[in-house]
Amino acid sequence: MRLIAYIGIGSNLGDPVVQVQEAFEELDAIPDSVLVARSSLYSSKPMGPADQPDYVNAVAALDTLLSPEELLKMLRKIEDRQGRERDGEKWGPRILDLDLLLYGKKKINKADLTVPHPGLHERDFVIIPLAEIAGDLNIPGRGQLHSLIKSCENHFLKKLITGK
Ligand code: ATP
Ligand code: CA
Ligand code: CA
Ligand code: CA
Repeated sequence: MRLIAYIGIGSNLGDPVVQVQEAFEELDAIPDSVLVARSSLYSSKPMGPADQPDYVNAVAALDTLLSPEELLKMLRKIEDRQGRERDGEKWGPRILDLDLLLYGKKKINKADLTVPHPGLHERDFVIIPLAEIAGDLNIPGRGQLHSLIKSCENHFLKKLITGK
């Protein structure tokens, strides 16, 4: 059966546009998984500490046979390969962040993995690119994607590069 996982991508250090584009390629290279859609790239104002560069955000759709836990492990590996450091402050600047947003319609509540991603429903920089490639899907426990945008804080999204 075809299972689509949606991955949120963010970067605000180094060359964020390049890192996000490389992340799409790295996601496609994950075993037993194929990248089936990439959103546009957006710039957004940072969440949390304000004294950091703007972010570049995007969302990818991955057709995968991996379990959510295996997928999370692969995401971490890609972050590490791109030089992600993990000793910084919460929501501090990073070279690459890959979040598992959705795994089919599944709900997961484990110590190191919550799906749908706990920030999805309140982040315009996730909802807007996600809606672009997924349409108006139902977010388990949260309702329709299009209805969530109203209550989001504004991170001043600007489209940088149109997706496909
Ligand atoms: P946020 O999760 O609010 O976007 P962040 O991405 O900066 O913040 P990280 O430091 O990258 O947070 O990750 C913290 C932990 O979140 C990771 O160790 C991971 O185990 C856990 N985690 C829980 N659910 C998820 C998920 N759906 N996708 C990615 N990581 C998750
Ligand atoms: Ca692959
Ligand atoms: Ca994140
Ligand atoms: Ca993360």
